Amino acid sequence: MFRIGYGWDSHRFKGGIPLKIGGVTLPHDRGLAGHSDGDVLLHAVTDALLGGVAAGDIGAYFPPNDKKWKGADSAVFIREALKKVAKAGYAVSNVDCTLILSTPKIGPHARKIQARVAELLKIAPGNVGIKAKTPEGMGTDNAAIAHVAVLLVKKGASGEHRLEAAEETPQPEVDQVVEQMLQSVEPPKKKSPKVHARRGTSGAETS
Ligand code: MG
Repeated sequence: MFRIGYGWDSHRFKGGIPLKIGGVTLPHDRGLAGHSDGDVLLHAVTDALLGGVAAGDIGAYFPPNDKKWKGADSAVFIREALKKVAKAGYAVSNVDCTLILSTPKIGPHARKIQARVAELLKIAPGNVGIKAKTPEGMGTDNAAIAHVAVLLVKKGASGEHRLEAAEETPQPEVDQVVEQMLQSVEPPKKKSPKVHARRGTSGAETS
């Protein structure tokens, strides 16, 4: 029902070209060298998607020595990888991305990158994690690195929504146990209901 995919990529910084990360052009004095647009994050996402359905890697479909992909928008790679995922009968549930680079700071652009990656993957922004770290002690200040994990869910047979449904399913027996526990910690009835609630809460917090 589920498959997991993982992708990794790195590109070195180079002056005089735009910096593209996650399909977004960021203001910076250097970009990422590469045969395509050098989008390290989209390449890692592509590999994660392909890996999730055991369909090889990005280089197998888009060889760097093929002139066709020179300067290509890496969104093309995502689209092709999504086709492989769909052909295998799966859909993307969520992705979690970690970027490792010294500059620029990703934080101010994280939401924009999240929105664009979500758009490319046809999922909600809430299903795209964008995290960034600086390469402390790694000596990779001249490179940008991306790690991506993706969860794929089998399409159809209500599998896609089974987890969510399980979370939403009423569980009266559990509710009853919780109710009993709450009653057992309530103070004597002479106090007002408001005071009961407050005492119950603070008791729970300190226990
Ligand atoms: Mg690459």
